[in-house]
Amino acid sequence: MSTIAVIGAGPAGLLAAEILSAKGHAVALYDSKPSVGRKFLMAGKGGLNLTHSEPLPQFIDRYANRADMVKDWLEVFGPEDLKLWAKRLGIETFIGSSGRVFPQEMKAAPLLRAWVRRLREQGVRFHMRHHWIGSDENNQSLFETAAGVVSLKAEATLLALGGGSWPQLGSTGKWFEVLAERGILLSKLRPSNCGFECVWSEHIKQRFSGQPIKTVTAWTTSTEGKNHRVNGDFIITQTGVEGGLIYSLSAPLRDLIETHKTAILHLDLAPGHSLHTLKTNLSRARGKRSLANHLTEQAGIHGIKAGLLREFATTEQLNDPLLLAELIKDLPITLTATRPLEEAISSAGGVYLESLDEHLMLKQWPGTFCAGEMLDWEAPTGGYLLTACFASGYKAAQGILHWLR
Ligand SMILES: Cc1cc2nc3c(=O)[nH]c(=O)nc-3n(C[C@H](O)[C@H](O)[C@H](O)COP(=O)(O)OP(=O)(O)OC[C@H]3O[C@@H](n4cnc5c(N)ncnc54)[C@H](O)[C@@H]3O)c2cc1C
Repeated sequence: MSTIAVIGAGPAGLLAAEILSAKGHAVALYDSKPSVGRKFLMAGKGGLNLTHSEPLPQFIDRYANRADMVKDWLEVFGPEDLKLWAKRLGIETFIGSSGRVFPQEMKAAPLLRAWVRRLREQGVRFHMRHHWIGSDENNQSLFETAAGVVSLKAEATLLALGGGSWPQLGSTGKWFEVLAERGILLSKLRPSNCGFECVWSEHIKQRFSGQPIKTVTAWTTSTEGKNHRVNGDFIITQTGVEGGLIYSLSAPLRDLIETHKTAILHLDLAPGHSLHTLKTNLSRARGKRSLANHLTEQAGIHGIKAGLLREFATTEQLNDPLLLAELIKDLPITLTATRPLEEAISSAGGVYLESLDEHLMLKQWPGTFCAGEMLDWEAPTGGYLLTACFASGYKAAQGILHWLR
């Protein structure tokens, strides 16, 4: 029986530990935190969007330029497998109105409890408060603990150390330097599914910060010239913009800022009205009625949407119904920076997939495998993050079994 070290007890590491221990291997699971799955539990606070119900080809497309590689993982453990896996742990799932899949109770804790019970039953040994710092010249993994540095010799090692967002939950990204020192090809960790900064007037900050803007269409043109368009809601913050709609566009917006220092977020504040209708409606005589009333009655623009419009409209645009209609249909907001990685839902960058073989083993470090968010892929929210973490954990576990054979 071989000892396998699984380092990092998030969804990717835990699933690998489950697969490997089910095959009778001695699995030692390590994590720097006092307990497992902290980010998974945090995801549960938002309802735990486990996966998505859309057809697999569309699902795979969500991984953009990494779709080809993630497809290999999803072939061995896809969205349907994930639902079945949860069911076998006693957790039924349901499909929400948006096609997203959640546990019935919309919580992570019951699932995590059942999962840990299963791992213990299968003999997985838990070593919490063990912070991995690399390996020695004999390829023994080294951990900082309260009792000093301890080492472990394992036949195979899985690193599933997460990305760099929400470091208070354990994934600090400190592994980056360790792997960089070994010469492993890495891409800088960057925020993904993140908020952005822009310059607001004091008026916007004081009146509207924290408030949602509902039902708008937003779009941007990526550095490759591709148009990305989404419908939804977002939130005005003290420093810029946040929320689901912004997260969906975060990859192209971030890349634009990296290349050009700024990115333009275009908003259609009245997606239910065509430009022609708006021009006709706003051109109607408004008599003595205020512009605010006219905008409410003829375009349905009031409250926070009116505030945003006035933030960017020139006097000329406010006085010309045709120009105003055009601005309502295409309001450009200049974004100047991403919010910090620490605040992002997930991170992009990490271990280049090209540094790994088809079994997710580091080509330069035989016997050491990687899985989860620490790999260089990204996806929008919608269950795609967790699914790829689970799938890569499964794939790496298969790779380890292959390696041991
Ligand atoms: C607020 C929030 C909500 C989210 N909601 C969703 C959602 O609904 N759906 C979805 O698909 N995704 C969601 N995500 C993203 C998802 O939780 C992550 O993508 C996923 O947890 C990553 O899994 P992982 O196993 O790769 O890493 P992690 O879950 O980050 O686990 C990595 C583990 O490694 C440990 N570790 C790190 N470094 C070391 C070290 N040097 N030594 C020892 N241990 C170490 C950490 O303590 C941690 O336990 C959310 C994220 C956040 C922050």
